[in-house]
Amino acid sequence: ACKKQIQTSEPQVHAYVSMDEKILAHRIKEVEEGIKSGRYTGPLAGVPIAVKDNICTRGQKTTCSSKMLENFVPTYDAQAVKQLEDAGMVILGKTNMDEFAMGSTTETSAFGVTRNPWNPEHVPGGSSGGSCAAVAAGEAVMALGSDTGGSIRQPSAYCGVTGLKPTYGRVSRYGLIAYASSLDQIGPIGKNVKDCAALFEIIAGHDSKDSTSADVPVESYDSLVSGGLSGMRIGIPKEYLAEGCDEEVKKALADAVHTLSKNGAVVEFFSLGMVDYVIPAYYIIACAEASSNLERFDGVKYGYRTPGATELHEMYKKSRAEGFGEEVKRRILLGSFVLSAGYYDAYYMKALRAKGLIKKEFDKAFQKYDCILAPASPTTAPKIGTSLSDPLQMYLSDIYTVAVNLAGLPAVSLPCGMDSRGLPIGMQLIGDCFQEKKILRAAAAYE
Ligand code: GLN
Repeated sequence: ACKKQIQTSEPQVHAYVSMDEKILAHRIKEVEEGIKSGRYTGPLAGVPIAVKDNICTRGQKTTCSSKMLENFVPTYDAQAVKQLEDAGMVILGKTNMDEFAMGSTTETSAFGVTRNPWNPEHVPGGSSGGSCAAVAAGEAVMALGSDTGGSIRQPSAYCGVTGLKPTYGRVSRYGLIAYASSLDQIGPIGKNVKDCAALFEIIAGHDSKDSTSADVPVESYDSLVSGGLSGMRIGIPKEYLAEGCDEEVKKALADAVHTLSKNGAVVEFFSLGMVDYVIPAYYIIACAEASSNLERFDGVKYGYRTPGATELHEMYKKSRAEGFGEEVKRRILLGSFVLSAGYYDAYYMKALRAKGLIKKEFDKAFQKYDCILAPASPTTAPKIGTSLSDPLQMYLSDIYTVAVNLAGLPAVSLPCGMDSRGLPIGMQLIGDCFQEKKILRAAAAYE
């Protein structure tokens, strides 16, 4: 069914950057046999999944939607990929994304834009736009994305699907090509909360190959989604519904509050501090780490090498100038600047201090509330071509998502209505560290 849907929708949506028919045919056969022989017995055996193209797949191209890695074929699988293959899932292909996961629209991809399945004139969000569009269009049953500052939650909202950003350390980052290592996290995308929970159970867990992986037991699927809303205390940061949030988004959130209350939750507004500092702190830390992580792409060890250089430094310069796109270069420059001697204390150290204070604000809130409810994005999906010309405006649209990454928290994004143009609106439920159970349970009951 997915392959058929790919044939119908893919020419317009362009959710995938690569699909290897030979590998897929081989894998389908292997899984069919594995199910018969009892090797794969879990509930997701045989379920087709799409994987974001910054997650390494052995023998299958992994490009980060960058010219820099256009022909890069990893020699190993990411741990999350290994775990879903051990569960008998079938990878259909690799999905489009903003280059190196930097962006909010999937327009910074070196391999063309992905279109929103609800309306092809609009973006699917980003950076996991291909993964979310694939699920929304029925071109995959589930998908893996990565979320450094909202890249699972925001495109899930724009595409009307459900996406979970797990607690930092919950899912191994081994084999996830790093953007900002202290914020990056792989997570599941599905048509509904239960699908996300089922996939989360499979990919989560401790991995000694990732030094920040947490050794915290993962709850079973049943306990993740059952329990209902009764007695749950949910807080809404009133700062999030101030200026800048679209009226239709506010209205959808108000309707969601009504439904949550009707089903037994106690929902109230509270004041979350530090909101003005989340964007600057995030972009300083993310760019700083990105500038350091992307040093390795020098034309020697990985990926693209310029054909037009006669000496070593020229080769470095030209390879990077030709291999990276505009947004990636902008962030390498910003990151190098905030890490440079003389500015390190004024920007980078200050941003790290702000990060600590942001975490404290959430700690305070979780003494009172089980979950925090917020919009996933201030607007619904913008039109293709309207965001790239104003990067600062695009950064500002991450206002509701980035704090979760700075504080290392889990959050699930799920649909809560449609705007007047027929585009989905999403909301997120944020939990305390390792409390995926609470947010999934509340989200499943709402759904
Ligand atoms: N839009 C944010 C950024 O560009 C988030 C990206 C992400 O989560 N990978 O940094």
